[in-house]
Amino acid sequence: MTIDWLLHESAAPSDVAPLTEYLAGSAEGMLVLPFCAACKHPLDLDQLHCDECAHQERVWEAVDPAGRVTVSIMMNRVDARYVKQDAAYPVIEVSLNSGHRIIVSTSTVSDTPMAPGTEVRLEFVRVGTQNIPRIINTAVKG
Ligand SMILES: [Zn+2]
Repeated sequence: MTIDWLLHESAAPSDVAPLTEYLAGSAEGMLVLPFCAACKHPLDLDQLHCDECAHQERVWEAVDPAGRVTVSIMMNRVDARYVKQDAAYPVIEVSLNSGHRIIVSTSTVSDTPMAPGTEVRLEFVRVGTQNIPRIINTAVKG
């Protein structure tokens, strides 16, 4: 597993709710996200009520780690406690084919945003004891 270029070990997410199932999936190399147990509407990681039917039970399923960029910004605030880079880095929202939205960065060094609509796939990198998803980027730098 590739060590993340962007975040220090101190930024690893904690294996507690609502991330338990998500991180267990990531440890197996799968992107596991929540759906409404009643109508299968995709839910955010911390979403407890379905927007579509108000049901309150969730099921976690592996999804295709692919989608399209919806927005990409350059983060200029660099917190040295968590971020290894001293220059701006991309923060990218991806609309996954499953209907979920996920906010990530790239799997290798990047100093440019990604155009909305760009088709992307995700892979996992290692941050401390956790695997987290990143966009596979082809514009490799550094
Ligand atoms: Zn529902």
